[in-house]
Amino acid sequence: MEKIIQQLNNSRHVLVASHVNPDGDAVGSMLAMGLALGALNKHVTIYNESPIPAVYRFLAGVQQIVNHLAPDAIFDTALILDCGELERIGDVAPRIANIPVIINIDHHVTNSLFGHLQLIDQEACATTEILHRIIQQLGVPLTREIAASIYTGILTDTGSFRFSNTNQSAFAICDQMVRYGVNPHTIAQHVYGHYSLGRIKLLNLALDSIEVSDNGKVSLMTLTQAMLLKTRTRPEDIDGMINYARSIQDVKIAALIQEKCNGNRYTNEFSAPYHVSLRSDGSVDVAEIATDFGGGGHSSAAGFGIEGTLAEVKSRILGLADKL
Ligand code: 5GP
Ligand code: MN
Repeated sequence: MEKIIQQLNNSRHVLVASHVNPDGDAVGSMLAMGLALGALNKHVTIYNESPIPAVYRFLAGVQQIVNHLAPDAIFDTALILDCGELERIGDVAPRIANIPVIINIDHHVTNSLFGHLQLIDQEACATTEILHRIIQQLGVPLTREIAASIYTGILTDTGSFRFSNTNQSAFAICDQMVRYGVNPHTIAQHVYGHYSLGRIKLLNLALDSIEVSDNGKVSLMTLTQAMLLKTRTRPEDIDGMINYARSIQDVKIAALIQEKCNGNRYTNEFSAPYHVSLRSDGSVDVAEIATDFGGGGHSSAAGFGIEGTLAEVKSRILGLADKL
């Protein structure tokens, strides 16, 4: 922590980045730090390879996020947030690897410990929980805008305070963020209350696709490109749907198989025709399973890329039930 604070204080141009297909914690993390470093008068570039999902575009500073780095831009520090592997940043990962000081702040158990300075807290409910500490250590006064980003990271990564990572800090920090002007209803409306009709129609197809293993312990949801096309939706619209497959009685592992669009979901190492998301009821460590398949994540939420036919992928997933 001390070294990270020192490095950030001494830096001049910081590149703040997170993983492709960013979720609420990734977006909240990038913006909280972008705004905080801006308040310290640092030159900051916030980078993400993917478009920012519509539901997070209400957050202050979101228009500062770029998906292209000027070839001649020089950064002294890279601040990589909520990202288990450097490669998950996407195509610019090799360029970022050359930045003199790389700071890795994350809460994934499977974090590869890349970079020069790491702050990995697997007990943190969200990366924004860790950044709340960093921002205080930096002495940056909290604003309503920073508070909204921190709150959104915690709200979304804890599944609205329902998942097993929901801890006391989640409530303590969010309580403080509300005192700094965050309105929980407004944020919930932005994040969960403005879905397109297409997204609801896609949910219908997703629910209809659910299969369960013979012993009832593994559930499987499948989303294809054809379904996205039919409902005119984007991969970001799939976020959260896996929770329906997990909520089925007796299910210990829920999986969502997503057909990738043109290698767009996880690029590089993660490139594969399908992306599989895993969720557990808490009794099974899905980060271990995902790691066996070449991916990673948290004990109760993880993922990986896989190649093969849909039938093959399905049978490998349903096969997990034999060991339960
Ligand atoms: P999701 O299933 O929502 O995409 O991801 C669940 C969790 O697993 C997230 O914390 C995410 O970072 C991690 N995860 C998902 N896919 C991959 C992957 O392909 N590789 C790695 N290392 N982690 C992943
Ligand atoms: Mn996270």
